Amino acid sequence: MQYITILGATGSIGVSTLDVLARHPEQYSVYALSAHSKVAELAAQCLQFRPQRAVVGTAAAAQELTRLLRGHGLAIEVGYGVQALCDIASAPQVTGVMAAIVGAAGLAPTLAAARAGKKVLLANKEALVMSGQLFMDAVQENHAVLLPIDSEHNAIFQCLPHDFARTPAASGVAKIVLTASGGPFLKRAVESLGNVTPDEACKHPKWVMGRKISVDSATMMNKGLEVIEAHWLFGAPADQIEVLIHPQSVIHSMVSYVDGSVLAQLGNPDMRTPIANALAWPQRIDSGVAQLDLAQVATLQFERADFTRFPCLALAFDALRAGGTAPALLNAANEVAVQAFLDLRIGFRQIEQVVAHVLASVANGAASSIEAVLEQDRLARAAAQAYIGDRLAA
Ligand code: NDP
Ligand code: MG
Repeated sequence: MQYITILGATGSIGVSTLDVLARHPEQYSVYALSAHSKVAELAAQCLQFRPQRAVVGTAAAAQELTRLLRGHGLAIEVGYGVQALCDIASAPQVTGVMAAIVGAAGLAPTLAAARAGKKVLLANKEALVMSGQLFMDAVQENHAVLLPIDSEHNAIFQCLPHDFARTPAASGVAKIVLTASGGPFLKRAVESLGNVTPDEACKHPKWVMGRKISVDSATMMNKGLEVIEAHWLFGAPADQIEVLIHPQSVIHSMVSYVDGSVLAQLGNPDMRTPIANALAWPQRIDSGVAQLDLAQVATLQFERADFTRFPCLALAFDALRAGGTAPALLNAANEVAVQAFLDLRIGFRQIEQVVAHVLASVANGAASSIEAVLEQDRLARAAAQAYIGDRLAA
């Protein structure tokens, strides 16, 4: 039996993870679930999956959750805050941790899981983008197993040779090709992008996801974050990572080898496939996803990514090449800008302006410790808020 903690259980990835786990009760047991503020949703999940522990964002939310659980006669240990998240990610009973909190808030518990040597199923790409080598070192030093959930990285993981992590130089990999749907604005007139609403930006053509990653997909910052994520997961330099637009989202990514071979992983666009793959690795389990019918898909299209239409993609490559804490600055500025866009404080095209401003105005530092990274994250957020307040907000 494997005991699983889900950080961010009430989100899109969390719910898909529970859907997969529910199909295999003989193999998986839920140890703990977390949410931030969706207390009623978390209580319903507790009722169905009977975890030993549940964690929410605040003392008030914890009180409310305790009341709801008592109403159902459930004695589940309830906690709140970052330390409680770290505890459920690192408890001795836990075998696997699904890291599916959105944004920098997921860094501490995801790192706690790595430091405790757990099997870490990584959806929370922002945590890795921020902490980079420090995170990878924590994985290695503590013999944690890091498995990618992001569909592109899970695809690449499946297309790489098994001994890749031990001997990357001898693997013959020439290039990693990250596919991208292009999001909802792939064909929209660039001049009209200034006026798009949060709901339009969140209407993704292929995937149903949380609002932050949906906006990131519309700006293609999501792909930019994924380029940085791929760099750390697979040790590939920026020049070896290519982004290819593929609107059908059937090929989830590819690996090109020096002999001219290209390996791809295909499937219907449903996150339960990479979730099931990582949960059961190196075995395979049923995910509930229908088999891919290529005759029905009929056409697969590709085009090069347009860095003028999607400047956030260029900013992410710049941050990766700059190194140091530039990826953490990029991520923090983007989180602030996306929230400001969702709150109707700035327009869609101003997201890229905020990120560019922060990268140009906050001095890049060495990513020498998690504390140094968090300090840069704080500075970037302050710079982004000030820029929005002084220059952009209506
Ligand atoms: P959602 O917004 O749907 O869910 C986020 C989860 O995190 C919720 O459980 C939420 O709780 C919790 N949460 C939010 N803020 C905090 C906080 N400050 N502290 C603790 N918990 C918090 O996001 P997604 O599921 O879409 O995405 C999760 C992560 O997975 C992101 O990093 C995203 O980039 C990545 N990812 C997602 C994909 C997808 O298909 N959705 C695909 C690939 C990667 P509450 O519900 O109470 O607010
Ligand atoms: Mg992805």
